[in-house]
Amino acid sequence: MIDMDIHSEHQPLVLERPQHIISRKRISSAAVRVLYGLREAGYQAHLVGGAVRDLLLGGDPKDYDVATDAHPEEIRKVFRTCRLIGRRFVIAHVRFGNEIIEVTTFRGGGTEGEDHPEREVEAEGLVLRDNVFGTLEEDARRRDFTVNALYYSIDDFAVRDFVGGLEDLEKRQLRLIGDPDQRYREDPVRMLRAARLAAKLGFTLERGTEEPIGRLANLLDGIPPARLFDDLQKLFLYGHAEKSYEQLLRLRLFEHLFPSVSINSDSGQPYAGALIRAALRSTDLRVAQDKPITPAFLFAAFLWEPFQMACAGIDIHAEGAMADAAEIVFQDAMERVALPRRFSIVTREIWELQPRLETNSPSRARRLMRHPRFRAAFDFMVLRAQVDPLLRPIAERWEKAQTCGESEFDALFRAAPAVKAGPASLPSEEEPPAKRRRRRRRRVPGAPAAPAD
Ligand code: ATP
Ligand code: MG
Repeated sequence: MIDMDIHSEHQPLVLERPQHIISRKRISSAAVRVLYGLREAGYQAHLVGGAVRDLLLGGDPKDYDVATDAHPEEIRKVFRTCRLIGRRFVIAHVRFGNEIIEVTTFRGGGTEGEDHPEREVEAEGLVLRDNVFGTLEEDARRRDFTVNALYYSIDDFAVRDFVGGLEDLEKRQLRLIGDPDQRYREDPVRMLRAARLAAKLGFTLERGTEEPIGRLANLLDGIPPARLFDDLQKLFLYGHAEKSYEQLLRLRLFEHLFPSVSINSDSGQPYAGALIRAALRSTDLRVAQDKPITPAFLFAAFLWEPFQMACAGIDIHAEGAMADAAEIVFQDAMERVALPRRFSIVTREIWELQPRLETNSPSRARRLMRHPRFRAAFDFMVLRAQVDPLLRPIAERWEKAQTCGESEFDALFRAAPAVKAGPASLPSEEEPPAKRRRRRRRRVPGAPAAPAD
């Protein structure tokens, strides 16, 4: 039996096994093995975080977190397949098959802001490093939202709640534990987590939790771009991308992720927002259908408008000009969100193929279809056509081209659709130079007749 009273200042609210719906059958076998492994070695073992929250809501957890009183080195001794990672917090990753369970030692260490050799805090309140170990209750109080601080113990199968998480779960609301201002200052990414979890769970933000976000959103600008990329993936690659986007817009957080996108300004282009929304919607659909998705495609949509602006100022016919424009856009964007190179290369290819999709030559069209990024570029053109009616004939032609026979294929591309080239659209290579120049006097970037976002 766990003796919680020794350490706890307060009694938690306890839901005994018959009072809740979490059964071991619904927990992944890897997580169950970790929980029992710790218990058999004489340690406490609790499932915590999103897994308990989602199981109580009747859902299927995306990953499992385990909290224990075993210290990192002790966890490593229990599991052969354990790796210790992280500096800000040391976390143990225990692997079973292709599943990784995150195991953390209870964190604590007295009142916030108190000096401690294992905690580093910046003047602004940002916590740089925190490896102060504590009790179960202290661990609960250092989590972000109350609904994320519920513990399911493998000892008695009860759920323990120190912070009112069960009540908030009932109310379907996210409430930060402790003083919201201070908790956002400690870790501004919690603002993104608020937007993401509100989107994912369909929860509202409790008033005190929502209120400081407007004032503190600029603290996100100090977060390392690599960490923001990690959180961006969680926002947009798990089937609730469009809702996440809505929350980010509503809370005015999106502009801190992509400051170069004009939907952030009052004179913003409805086109940019509509394209992003179409991309997110299609990503959600692909997730629902278990189709592969890539951040490269999403970034193509997020940064399409800045890319068009960059192209507007240069001669895009010059060798490498589009690549240079893309580079400028990436460099600028990556001051906030670090898109790894393996993705940005693909994003650039998707962009560079856009004008080539306007070809009127059957042989070029055939070659294009063999390009490794053809499919992604085509999908992107379909999105563009959703918000720019002028591009529909191109998208439709390629749609047909992928299923039709040889002779029909040739006819499709010889009968060129009457399309006015958009920004960053190159005229087809068959046209005389004079016509090219005329076309390059393009309309305002990103401003075709498009539905408002
Ligand atoms: P998801 O279902 O998307 O995984 P989650 O709440 O489990 O949501 P994780 O990133 O897996 O999110 O984090 C696991 C748990 O760790 C959270 O539920 C929360 O208790 C705690 N946690 C995560 N990030 C923070 C943070 N920035 N500040 C405080 N606690 C955090
Ligand atoms: Mg989780």
